[in-house]
Amino acid sequence: MEEAAPCPPPSATIRPIDRTSVHRICSGQVVLSLGTAVKELVENSLDAGATNIDIKLKDHGAELIEVSDNGGGVEEENFEGLTLKHYTSKIQDFSDLIHVETFGFRGEALSSLCALSDVTIFTCHKSAKVGTRLVFDHNGTITQRAPFPRQQGTTVSVQQLFYTLPVRHKEFQRNIKKEYAKMVQLLQAYCVVCKGVRINCTNQVGQGRKSCVISTAGSPSLKENIAAVFGQKQLQSLIPFVQLPPSEAVCEEYGLNSADLPQNLYSITGFISHCDHGVGRSTTDRQFFYINQRPCDPAKVVKLVNEVYHLHNKHQYPFVVLNIGVDSECVDINVTPDKRQILLQEEKFLLAILKTSLMEMFGSDVNKLNVNQKLLDIAGNLKKTLPEETEKPQVEILSDSETESPSGEGKRTMTLSRLRESFSLHQTAESCFQSPKKVKQRQNPSRQLLLDTTVSTAKTQKAVLTKEPENCHKMDSKVSVPSRYLRKSEANADSGFCSISESDAGCSTPEAGSCFNGESAVNSEEEFCSTEEQLQKECLKTAGCSEKSLDCDVQVLGTEPQLDKGNDWTDQRKCSQEANSSSPRVKRFKSRNFKSKADDFEAGKYPEVKNTSVDVLVEVKKKIVPLEFSMKVLAEKVKKVIQQQQKSTETENYRRFKAKISPGDNKVAEDELRKEISKEMFAKMEIIGQFNLGFIIAKLNSDLFIIDQHATDEKYNFEMLQQHTALQGQKLIVPQNLNLTAVNETVLIENLEIFRKNGFDFVINENAPVTQRVKLISLPTSKNWTFGPQDIDELIFMLSDSPGVMCRPSRVRQMFASRACRKSVMIGTALSVQEMRKLITHMGEIEHPWNCPHGRPTMRHIVSLDMISSE
Ligand code: ADP
Ligand code: MG
Repeated sequence: MEEAAPCPPPSATIRPIDRTSVHRICSGQVVLSLGTAVKELVENSLDAGATNIDIKLKDHGAELIEVSDNGGGVEEENFEGLTLKHYTSKIQDFSDLIHVETFGFRGEALSSLCALSDVTIFTCHKSAKVGTRLVFDHNGTITQRAPFPRQQGTTVSVQQLFYTLPVRHKEFQRNIKKEYAKMVQLLQAYCVVCKGVRINCTNQVGQGRKSCVISTAGSPSLKENIAAVFGQKQLQSLIPFVQLPPSEAVCEEYGLNSADLPQNLYSITGFISHCDHGVGRSTTDRQFFYINQRPCDPAKVVKLVNEVYHLHNKHQYPFVVLNIGVDSECVDINVTPDKRQILLQEEKFLLAILKTSLMEMFGSDVNKLNVNQKLLDIAGNLKKTLPEETEKPQVEILSDSETESPSGEGKRTMTLSRLRESFSLHQTAESCFQSPKKVKQRQNPSRQLLLDTTVSTAKTQKAVLTKEPENCHKMDSKVSVPSRYLRKSEANADSGFCSISESDAGCSTPEAGSCFNGESAVNSEEEFCSTEEQLQKECLKTAGCSEKSLDCDVQVLGTEPQLDKGNDWTDQRKCSQEANSSSPRVKRFKSRNFKSKADDFEAGKYPEVKNTSVDVLVEVKKKIVPLEFSMKVLAEKVKKVIQQQQKSTETENYRRFKAKISPGDNKVAEDELRKEISKEMFAKMEIIGQFNLGFIIAKLNSDLFIIDQHATDEKYNFEMLQQHTALQGQKLIVPQNLNLTAVNETVLIENLEIFRKNGFDFVINENAPVTQRVKLISLPTSKNWTFGPQDIDELIFMLSDSPGVMCRPSRVRQMFASRACRKSVMIGTALSVQEMRKLITHMGEIEHPWNCPHGRPTMRHIVSLDMISSE
């Protein structure tokens, strides 16, 4: 499509879009975010064979992204093609794709960046005497070219990303912190996997100091890269992945016949958290998957790894770095523009290997710890109770085999998996990095297939967590999911209930706020209009929003007092023939129309009517029609209308609440309630009485509802605790170092207030080196609950997604839930009408009244009295 046909456009309406427009339309789809932009540039540097890559950001990348490398540089004859669409030095025809060993191959990134921002490139090819500075316009054409001194390599400078797309630019700037956090996650994946490449990223806000975002040392070892990015301490919790052939049982599970399985198709290496309680992470923030060293999101693999981990450590997520090596002929990377989705041959076989291996690793991991501890005892290592000491053996397990001199202790810490590891060296993660020769051989492959990525680990997380919302709907499931996801699903769930959830409030656009300021469903709907997905389709966005606002309009109209049934009805009698054919929505417009007309005739105040009614324009067109009919016809039609209306109200009632009271129907029931019951309606409910000392029966118009007195009170108390409790912190005797990454440290510093409200306090030393700036000095306390760095990690994870938005660690949520439970009216307590009224009024005051904090339903529709009487 992009290749516009050269023949003159025929007179028919289908014509090629002109090239410049196509370019603009498509560019926004290649580079979607800050993350993609940085990723593309880093990949280009890696493709150019760089061993040193410097990324310089200004204002988190909103102002400037500059990536410099010491790679091969660009030859003069290639200057013109550098930024042209689909110009690449990496493949020539489709068949090359099968063996493509570079990250890039589509020749789209630079040309897209040109279309979206101001691009300048400084480059000096190995063969050139002096470097060149090239300035490009939005079509990727060189506008300035001058000699520029620099060493071999290339610097690409991208200023004001997205400024050619005003709407996206605005959103981009507004969400820059979130974009930045995602970009860093993406970059981490490359920092970890790129052996022998030094990657350094800094950020400068305004005229402030440059702060280090990530820095790796160009080590040839995956392990050292992990340490450089996440701190030495992270290594202590990791075990190497040890690959096993799929077991019989697992083969059966996947429907594989072990006899005809391919040999040596996959070679999996990497590290994963060991499964002891507390050793994993509270979120999926550190999970990196690669296929032939190319960062990607293999959804099924991600899901499996987390599932197996959960079998051994129920409440946590593992740290994962896993590379799946496979013959490049068995992979298709050209699936999505960001190259993060990859198709694999024999995927089931891969899953079976993974499952068998992980089960074995975690199974033997338990033994490992016990053995270690005993041996330490014998050896007289006295500090055995300190966590560092018990962790020591695991460090050993991770150490490179060069350093694994068979010291007595090292030997004794050998376990099943360790044995296997030493006997299958070629399969273990570290073995890839042993000899420099090997490193060299591997380096190119390491750059082989990595290409354009986009939404990196964020996607991975999504993939892992897609099942969570389902879980949440099971009313009896306990709150074991990180609260972020619960909150997300609740937020979604309640979108119709005019609430802006904490996590989503941050996404609202200023425009959205000014368009709709009523406290109606409109508001929250509008919130959802401005999520990133919409950003990606700028044009669609506007359309989508207006569509929504149309809907909202109608909703608002529908609740206006002048449109209550009485009015509607009298008006309709007057204008019966019009109403005849119409749907309820049309009816409303028309009845209104008629009303204004009547006013118009009576008082001659047409302009005023116009002011009060939003729909006048529509009405004006339609008011020409009537009054040529005879009274007879009119009367007949009125009758019909009455009948139709009766029918429609009947079916409406029937349809409004059709979910059964049964756990399987909980989701449907909740959706219906959310749709039909607005906050104000609770106050209007009539209390019929108490049932079985546990339930309140209430009536609204002709609908009867049953309300669980304990569940509803519990939810109210819970929300109040969530909103108003400032947790008390207890000072630590010694300030504690947190080993945060540079980015997480920044997130923490920028959201100190939220941490304080949760009872965490810190001392910040601005002058300390990055990653050492924050020390924990106070932890929240409560009788039976202890909190620690895990909860801080979780908060950081939530806050990097929605900076500045008040949130609570999931365990604080759990604590509030149990407090709320104890505070609330119990089943078996007789209630007076006032007490019942209070409980129901409270339901109208909270954000998510439909289920208690543990997920049990609070309210269900029993029956519509209309339906009983009509039968
Ligand atoms: P692709 O990577 O898919 O080829 P790009 O638009 O990213 O497409 O890059 C276009 C071409 O520009 C590349 O094929 C490469 O030849 C050249 N190029 C881009 N960045 C660099 C760099 N940092 N060093 C050397 N050459 C580069
Ligand atoms: Mg590229």
